[in-house]
Amino acid sequence: MPNAYEAMNDAELKAAIADLEKQADDLRALDLKLDMARGKPSPQQTALSRPMLDLLTSESDLSDEGVAADNYGCPEGLPSARRLAAELLGVDEKNVIVNGSSSLNLMHDVVCNAYTHGIGGNKPWSQQGKVKFLCPAPGYDRHFTVTARYGIENVPVPMTAEGPDMDVVRRYVEEDPSVKGIWCVPMYANPTGITYSDEVVRAFAHLKPAAPDFRIFWDNAYCVHTFKGEGDHLLNIFDALEEAGASDLVYEFGSTAKVTFPSSGMAYMTASPADMAEVRAAFASMRVSPEKISQLAHVRFLKDAAGVRAHMEKHAAIVAPRFALVEEKLTASLADLGVATWTHPCGGYFVSFDGPEGSAKAIVSLAAELGVKLTPAGATWPYGKDPKDTNIRIAPTFPTLEELGQALDVFVVAVKLVSARLVAEAR
Ligand code: PMP
Repeated sequence: MPNAYEAMNDAELKAAIADLEKQADDLRALDLKLDMARGKPSPQQTALSRPMLDLLTSESDLSDEGVAADNYGCPEGLPSARRLAAELLGVDEKNVIVNGSSSLNLMHDVVCNAYTHGIGGNKPWSQQGKVKFLCPAPGYDRHFTVTARYGIENVPVPMTAEGPDMDVVRRYVEEDPSVKGIWCVPMYANPTGITYSDEVVRAFAHLKPAAPDFRIFWDNAYCVHTFKGEGDHLLNIFDALEEAGASDLVYEFGSTAKVTFPSSGMAYMTASPADMAEVRAAFASMRVSPEKISQLAHVRFLKDAAGVRAHMEKHAAIVAPRFALVEEKLTASLADLGVATWTHPCGGYFVSFDGPEGSAKAIVSLAAELGVKLTPAGATWPYGKDPKDTNIRIAPTFPTLEELGQALDVFVVAVKLVSARLVAEAR
């Protein structure tokens, strides 16, 4: 669709800008203080898990299948917690560990261990000169921060509607032994909300890395976070690996951060038996044993995968109207202008928005001036550098519906005004 502002003559464009500036002034006068910056559940959502807090009391039996939750021991996590995580990931519980409250923390520790001690008997990454990580972009900023902090070069890879561009991934992974990993959010990706197609998952499983210590970091953070209809389907990467006759290629992560309580959930990971043996040995020097009381509360509350799904339906009832409002407001105000595109996810926490080239920073800054905080422009790219300055992550879950409506009204005015000004500046 052609850009409506480009189609205007100079006088029309000037009038449109004046009108939008007036709208911006009216919004500024409201002195709003709204936050659409981070993907946090709303207080209504975290309240869904409060009954979990009543399940353990001073009178409770704190044992789980013979393991005492109130003492050291069982470093791989409580048996019932491992079973629950294994059921969610669709893998054998023998290859699962449940540890800590943050999956990002597990990812960090696995990267750190590879950096200091190496993977599979290979030299530590720190002793291999330049090492690189592939970063499908737009992606999750905190992934990029982990690898950047170790001096690993983050290399952006384009995202398509089906997942990362696998021709680009294959070329890097199969031709460059300094490429040691790739960050993936395969389901309801942060921030695009897309789910990798079966073809993309199979292409990952068939990779023949040039580096023996290359691993795919498969962060399945949103595997149960469907809020619309049947939701998406993700092929199980470990089934795809088996089909491909491959092993020792994937670390998979997940957590209940956005199922129960962010920062007080239950984090878990899985990999091949050989990779897990190595991870367990590394973790043994980092922690005595995990937070088993929290694990016990989680399994008594959520019980099994069916219990998690039932719980997530309650989240969906709260979250779905917010995503519907984003779609409604963006469509009503922007669909006919030809200046922006955005994603239409069925799950996850984000909508990924693209404005005209060179607009994202200006839109985020104008929205901030008008009282709406957004994720910083560029954050979805390695080193915060979005080469075309187009992408903005919209996180609609935390505000109330009323606040979200106001925030979106501000956002669309900012998008329109910046888009119109860009056309005027180019004349
Ligand atoms: N992975 C992704 C893709 C996320 O979006 C988030 C949270 N925003 C996390 C991991 C963090 O999960 P945790 O709290 O378990 O570290």
